[in-house]
Amino acid sequence: MAAVRRRTKIVATIGPVSSSHDMMRALVDAGVDAVRLNLSHGTHDDHAASARMVREVQAEVGKPLALIADLQGPKLRIGDLPAPRVLLKDEEILVVGEQVAVDGELPVAPAVIGEVLRPGHDVLIDDGLVRLTVQEVDQGRAMCRVVVGGEVKSHKGVNLPGVPIPIPSLTKKDLDDLPFALNLGVDFVALSFVRAAADVRDLQAIIRQHGSPARVIAKIEKAEAVAVLDEVLQEADAVMVARGDLGVEIGAATVPLLQKRIILRCLEAGKPVITATQMLESMIEHAEPTRAEASDVANAVLDGTSAVMLSAETATGNYPVEAVRTMDSIARAVEPSMGYRHQLPEPGEETTVGRAMSNGACDLAETLGASAILVPTFTGRTASAVARLRPRRPIVGLSHHQTAVQQMALEWGVTPVLMPQTENVEDLWTRSLEVALKCGVIESGDRVVTTAGTAVNLPGSTNVIKVDIA
Ligand code: PEP
Repeated sequence: MAAVRRRTKIVATIGPVSSSHDMMRALVDAGVDAVRLNLSHGTHDDHAASARMVREVQAEVGKPLALIADLQGPKLRIGDLPAPRVLLKDEEILVVGEQVAVDGELPVAPAVIGEVLRPGHDVLIDDGLVRLTVQEVDQGRAMCRVVVGGEVKSHKGVNLPGVPIPIPSLTKKDLDDLPFALNLGVDFVALSFVRAAADVRDLQAIIRQHGSPARVIAKIEKAEAVAVLDEVLQEADAVMVARGDLGVEIGAATVPLLQKRIILRCLEAGKPVITATQMLESMIEHAEPTRAEASDVANAVLDGTSAVMLSAETATGNYPVEAVRTMDSIARAVEPSMGYRHQLPEPGEETTVGRAMSNGACDLAETLGASAILVPTFTGRTASAVARLRPRRPIVGLSHHQTAVQQMALEWGVTPVLMPQTENVEDLWTRSLEVALKCGVIESGDRVVTTAGTAVNLPGSTNVIKVDIA
C-alpha cells in the first residue's frame, strides 16, 4: 500500500528569508506545494530570482509546484514620511492626498483619498492597529481624530471600510508587474481588492492577450466582493480568503463564518480556494504555534479549504521550515476525520456531464475500495470536478500540459503528474496507468478508477469511467 499523502495543499510566500535555493528546497521538502510571489514587496529582480529557484527545485525534487504572482492592487498606503510618527489618542491630524500633503499632515497614496472621505468615516492604518475617525473635510483635507493611537510608518496599508474608492482594480504598478510576472511563467495571478466580477474578467482578458495560460485567483478582502460573491466566483478560476484585509474591512468577528461560507461556495462551484493570513503568525518569532493557531489551521482544513497559506511566517519569519512542517502535521492529523462530499444533485439543480461523471467516479472508487482515482485531463478542470467531492481515495491528475500540471498542485487531494501526449484513447488509458504507477500513488495489482474524455486532447470532453487493475 502506498504512503498516505496530505490532501490539503500548502502555499508559502517567498521573501527575504526564503529566497535562497537551499531554503526553497527545505520548504519544498517540508511539504510546500505552491509558492506566492508577493508583488507588494521586493523588486522585479528579486522575484525573477525566486521564480527561477522555484523551477530549479521543482526539477530537482520532481514535484510540480504552482507559482502564484500576487498583484498589489488598489491598496491605499501611507506616503513617504521623513520618520515614523507616533499618533496619540484624541490627537487631531490632517489626512491628505500624497501629492498635496505638507509637513505635519499624514500623506496617503493615491491622492483620491481627499475626494472620498466624509465626516464619520473610519481611517484604519496598518491592518487597523491605528484608527482615526474623520471629523470634517475641507478642500480634500480630512481633519481626523485619533481613536486608537500608535506608530505610523511610511507605506503602511490604509483601509477605509465601506467607502467606495473610484480607482481601477489594476493600478499602474499592477499593469507594469503583470507582463513581468507572466513572462516568468507564473501559473496563477492573484488579484487583490476585487470589487466586481468585471475586475476578474478584465484581468483574464489581459492575460489571454499576453498569450499566457495563467489563471486568476480572486482575493476576497472587500465587502463589495462579498456582496457579489457568486458572480465573482463564476468568473474566477480560484479564490483566496484574504483574511488580513478582509478582517480590517468587515471586522475580525465576521471573518470566521464568512470563511466557511466562501469555502462552501467554492466547493459547490468546483474551484480551488486558499485560506490565508495569520494562520501561524506566532511562528514568525517562535518554533511552536499557539494552540489557537493550530485550531485555526485545523478548522480551515475541516471547512474543506483546498490550500492553507503562510505569509510572513515563510517570507520574513525565524522558523519558515518549522511553520510548513507544522501545517503539514496539523492537516495530516485532521484529514482522516473529514466528510466525503459526494451528493446526488438536488431536484432542479443543473448538472453537467463532467460533474455527473466525477460523482460517478468517486462513487465507484468508494464502492470498490479503489486505491486511486486517475484523471487524465487537458486543462485540469476534470481534476477540479473530482476534487470538489473531497473523496477519500487519492486523485492523480495527469496532463501533458506543464502549466495544467503545475496548476493542479493547488488542487485539494490531487497528485499532479506530467504525462506524454497521447494519440488515441487506448494509449491514454495505458499511459495514465504507467505514469500513476511511476509516481508512486498506486502499486502494481491495485484497483483504480479512471475518468476521462474519449476525444483525447479536447478540453471538456469527459465521458468515460473505467475500472482497471494496475
Ligand atoms: C490578506 O490581506 O489577507 C492577503 C492575503 O493579502 P496581502 O498579503 O497581499 O495583504
